[in-house]
Parts: sequence; structure tokens; C-alpha cells
Amino acid sequence: MTAKMTRARPEVSRMFCQSAFLSEYQTTDKTPNRGCMTTPIRFLPYLRPMVWGSRRLADILGKTLPSASAYGESWEVSSHPVHQSIVAEGSWAGRSLGRLVQEKASDLFGSISLNEFPWLIKFIDADDWLSVQVHPDDEKVKTLWPGERGKTEAWFVIAAEAGSRIYAGLLDGVAEKDLRAALADGEVTRCLHSFTPQAGDCLFLPAGTVHAVGGGVVIAEVQQTSDATFRLFDWNRRDANGQFRPLHIEQALASIDWTSGPVEAVRVPEFAACTETEVARPLVRCPYFDLDYVHVVGESWRAESTGLHALIVLSGSGHLLSADLRTSVTRGQVWLVPAFSDYDIQPSGSLKLLVCSLPAK
Ligand SMILES: [Zn+2]
Repeated sequence: MTAKMTRARPEVSRMFCQSAFLSEYQTTDKTPNRGCMTTPIRFLPYLRPMVWGSRRLADILGKTLPSASAYGESWEVSSHPVHQSIVAEGSWAGRSLGRLVQEKASDLFGSISLNEFPWLIKFIDADDWLSVQVHPDDEKVKTLWPGERGKTEAWFVIAAEAGSRIYAGLLDGVAEKDLRAALADGEVTRCLHSFTPQAGDCLFLPAGTVHAVGGGVVIAEVQQTSDATFRLFDWNRRDANGQFRPLHIEQALASIDWTSGPVEAVRVPEFAACTETEVARPLVRCPYFDLDYVHVVGESWRAESTGLHALIVLSGSGHLLSADLRTSVTRGQVWLVPAFSDYDIQPSGSLKLLVCSLPAK
């Protein structure tokens, strides 16, 4: 992709929709698409136990956790080799996202030419502390982790406990020698900007930004399709077998963008508030994804999609209607809407979501 930073907002307009009874998942044509893929799809979540997780993915996002373990991540949309998302239902049920990209790239991406899926979308429950880490950019990854992508990411805080914290970026003036000295002292956080997160905070973390989160934070994360993570510090924590997880200090230091300082969140105050006000707010514009916050109240919200959309349902419930699908949607779900598919969101009272789309070339 090019490094173009701006694009027009997705064409969005309101419409009134006469509410008929809507079933759970109902395609309106038994042979939809005639080979063309226009139907919104959802994938089976890939739930990952983590030492730093807990049970909030069930409690807050309604996930069915497979065991009594602590869970840290739910991968919702992924075509990374670590996990290929599988379509959960409908005409494409059982297909992997990677195969859909191979077979239906132009249906998914429209006029934008891509031969692999651009995003990895997860929910994260950071009950304990994730490591202090950094991801390389597309250039540095070529030597530091050949075969991987760079990893720019964005977080939206769905819930945050008292005492939780986010570290994001170096404090102004911190140079490599300062960070090395802090690492040697076991006090890396003295070099990092940090703040107390609140539900509704959106944080954009370009590749090269040192970051960490913990203390009870539930996050929706959109990132480049990449697993390139270098641990700088892991809180002197041992795993279940009494072992320290490996650190990658030299690779991490080589990945850091020393020119970028503290990273502040964009706060969406309406997310945590009980408001009846409809909101559509741009959150992130970057070369890899655009992210918008949308709060739909009352009537339907119509998107005339000009490209691929991922709908990340943060809270509430309602229905998603397209030309060949009527389905219920609820918190904790992520829906992928192929390019050229117009759709309507019809809330049951109130529905809060993130809309992820591709930047214009
Ligand atoms: Zn990260």
C-alpha cells in the first residue's frame, strides 16, 4: 500500500427502515451471489489462554470460553499463519479467510488490489501485564524478522478497571543510552509515558512505539497482519513452568522509533456515557486502516460501502441487513462486509461499533 494518509469518509447516510421480524441469520436467496461474494460474514473466534488473561472476554463480550482457564485473546479476523479464521455460518461456512482472499479478492477488496488480508482483529483481556514490547515497521522487519510484516496497531478500550495503566511511547528526550540504563536497572517504565485508561480511549500505536497494558483492560485491537513482537521487559515474571519468557532486547531497541515521543489517547466520551446522541467520529487514519467510531441510536444507519468494512461491535445489539442477509448482531462480534455491499445497522435501542476500512490509495 502507499503511504497516503487521507481518504474520504465511507459514504454514510441515514435511512428509515420498516422493521419486519428478523431472524437470527437469514439469507434471502438460497443461491446468493452466483459466485460473487457480497454477504457479510463472521468467523469462529480463536480463543487463546494467556497467563495475563482472565474471564472478561466472557463477562464483558459474551464469548463462550472453552475451558476454565484464563483467556487473554480472541482472534476474530485473521489470515496470519498462526491462525486462519474460519467462516462461522452461511454460504461460506467452513472456508478459511486465506482461501476467500485467494478466490474472492476483488469481491472483498473492490478496486483496491491486495493479495493478502490486511488486518488482524482481536479482543484482548489484559488482566495482568502484557510485556513491554515494540513492533518493527515494514522496513526494519525485513532484517529483524524476515517474512513477517511490520505491525502498526490501534486499540479501543472497552473496559478498564481502577488501577489499570497503559504505557505508550517514550518520554520526551529519552535516548537509547537512557533506555539501556533503565533496562539494566530493571526500571524500564521510568522512560515510558503512561496514563490511566478509560473506556472509550482509542490509542494509535505506529510500529516502533514502545507499549504495554495491564491491570484489567479489555481492548478491541486492529493491526497489520503480523506477529512480529519484540519483548523489552516482562516484569520479572515467570510462566507456569517457572521460566522467564525470552526477551529480545537488541531487536526491540533496533525497532524503536526514537523520534516519536509520548502517545496520547483520543477519548470518545460518549462511549461510556448513557447518551441518546448518535455519533460518527473518525479515530485513526493511517496507511493500513481507517477506524471510525459509530454510535447508532433508534433508526437504522446505512452504509453505502465503497470498500471492505469490518464492523467491531463494542456494545449493544441489533440487526445487520444487506441485500442478501438479515442477521442479529451483538457485542463482541466482528462482521466483515465485502466491498460493494450496501448495508444497514438497525439497533435494538443503541449499538456502539468501530468501523474499519481500507484507506484510499
Ligand atoms: Zn502490540
